[in-house]
Amino acid sequence: MSDLPVGTQAAADAVRAAERIVVLTGAGISTDSGIPDFRGPNGVWTRNPAAEKASNIRYYLSDPEVRKAAWLNRLDTPVWTAEPNLGHQLVYELERRGQLRAVVTQNIDGLHQAAGHDPENVIEVHGTVRSTRCWECGDVRPMREALDRVRGGEADPPCLVCGGIIKSDTISFGQSLVPEVIDRAFQVSSECDLMLAIGSTLSVYPAANCVPTAKRAGASVVILNGQHTEMDRHADHLLIGQISEVLPVLVGR
Ligand SMILES: [Zn+2]
Repeated sequence: MSDLPVGTQAAADAVRAAERIVVLTGAGISTDSGIPDFRGPNGVWTRNPAAEKASNIRYYLSDPEVRKAAWLNRLDTPVWTAEPNLGHQLVYELERRGQLRAVVTQNIDGLHQAAGHDPENVIEVHGTVRSTRCWECGDVRPMREALDRVRGGEADPPCLVCGGIIKSDTISFGQSLVPEVIDRAFQVSSECDLMLAIGSTLSVYPAANCVPTAKRAGASVVILNGQHTEMDRHADHLLIGQISEVLPVLVGR
């Protein structure tokens, strides 16, 4: 307990009193599930800029070799075997208690839903790897169907409806967010009485702007992250520490 950041107890009191919490999550909440942080100091993209280029929509659409490599990567991403960890379970606990307005997540791993949430309450601003979407006609299907086709020998499986290029239903670099999804994230942020940002450096926009949106609407802001964030100045309670140690105290379990 002595290692807890200063202010943890005051933040826990604020969480206990809140009635409409929006939890904003980033990669840090999923690293304990074995999913690498792509943008952090030890992130995949930080160490390998070529991997970041491969996830750019322009290269994906124009180069079949980039798509073939992407499908091979998808076959063994750690997401398929990952389980929700204590952090995801504690966020779900807020829903179970009736204190949660919504989860806004920058993660694409689907682990919040796997922890038990009503899917309606999870707003995935950067999409999900658990579905595919056709770039031409918008047809959406479970990712496992496409992966079965790749295993069956289709190196770059086309859309079954129109023959177009399909990809994971995520927001790649160079691709716009889905307006209805990000709008909903800002809407719930403007309606919450407490914004709890967990495991994000809050440096990816526009998702990070959910924090000042909540603040302007009068919400308390609690930031819990392993390092400082770009939104520290908005925090009523800034907790730099381990999610697995601090979040159990915040949620009171
Ligand atoms: Zn299509």
